[in-house]
Amino acid sequence: MMKWPSLNLQILLGAVFGVALGAYFHNLGASHPLTQGGVYAASLLGTLFIDLLKMILIPLVFCSIAVGIANLRQHQQMHRVWVTTLIFFISSMAIAIILALLAGNYFKPGAGLHLSMFEHAMQNFEAKQLPLPEFLAQFLHGLFVNPFTALSQGNVLAVVCFALILGIALVMGGDRYKALLALLQEGLAVCMQVVGWIMRIAPLGIMALLMQLVAMQNLAMLSTLAKFVAVVVGTTLLHGVIVLPLILYLFTGKTPLWFWRGAREALMTAFATSSSSATLPVTLRCANDHLQVKPAIAGFVIPLGATINMDGTALYEAAAALFIANLVGIELSFVQQLIVFFTAMIAAMGAPGIPSAGMVTMVMVLQSVGLPAEAIAILLPIDRLLDTLRTTVNVEGDMVGSLVVQKLLKN
Ligand code: ASP
Repeated sequence: MMKWPSLNLQILLGAVFGVALGAYFHNLGASHPLTQGGVYAASLLGTLFIDLLKMILIPLVFCSIAVGIANLRQHQQMHRVWVTTLIFFISSMAIAIILALLAGNYFKPGAGLHLSMFEHAMQNFEAKQLPLPEFLAQFLHGLFVNPFTALSQGNVLAVVCFALILGIALVMGGDRYKALLALLQEGLAVCMQVVGWIMRIAPLGIMALLMQLVAMQNLAMLSTLAKFVAVVVGTTLLHGVIVLPLILYLFTGKTPLWFWRGAREALMTAFATSSSSATLPVTLRCANDHLQVKPAIAGFVIPLGATINMDGTALYEAAAALFIANLVGIELSFVQQLIVFFTAMIAAMGAPGIPSAGMVTMVMVLQSVGLPAEAIAILLPIDRLLDTLRTTVNVEGDMVGSLVVQKLLKN
């Protein structure tokens, strides 16, 4: 009997077919009936896949964090996990931003272009004001929300915060709450089983999403901004293919190939969905089942990372600020670049894990150094394409983080 290919191979084939079909439809042209039918079918299938992931996301995050914290407290390690995780997140984002600033200063993308070339795009776009103090206030305000509202609205960050508090309360209460803890543990196991089922349609979902993405691409803008795109893609790849694997190797001795084998389901899902949140169920599955991260660590580091640890986004925010400064003809001073460094980090932490979220919070980075926020209209047409890679690196950073934290806590 013929053996059915493994899920990983199916996903890879799905991605390749998706890109090939997308390119075919792109060549046929957007108005061709075949393209319209194909794109419609792909959007149904792709949305179904994302909807299924989102359906399980909130119950999964809730159970996973509460159980993860409860288990950590039993090992009396909670304080160390917190601190190690936050230090890892901040350091890896800092490296990503420094890479972007170095590349931006060296290659100066946008230096040959002029803002007036994009006047038309900018006229039709009004940037929403997003000053830093207001952004911070909004962010802090969003952390603690009625848990029922947060659960029903799918507010991941607020669910993470409530589950953290619940996890602590469960342990403080000791045996008194052991029935509730057991219920949450079973809830987590059931959610992971459902994720396993959803992954069976992942090859089709990923094929559909990539096909739609390639078929609908606006290539004209891509070639005008070729240098900027090359710098962003190059630096993001450098961070994802060299820096993060190197950190992983130095701390844990695990090779990039070993990591890729265990992480590829999540990396490809992130690439196709451009959403760290939608990918979160798959990321947790990879960390627990393939990368052998203990559920107590993965259950804490991965959901928290999906909401605040975004290396790819941080890198992009800084690169885009330098690009727009070049377009406007402003040379950013050292101090201004330092401001970009900090605001890019805050903007990335505050960006929710959904497609193009980084574009919204980027307004704040631009405003912090007096650049015109309307200029992000120039980047919008190419954003969906660049989002694929930065989301993949965001998710990679979370998985590398969980492995490094686990290793550091063992010693
Ligand atoms: N799409 C990214 C993510 O989900 C966020 C961003 O737009 O940079 O991780």
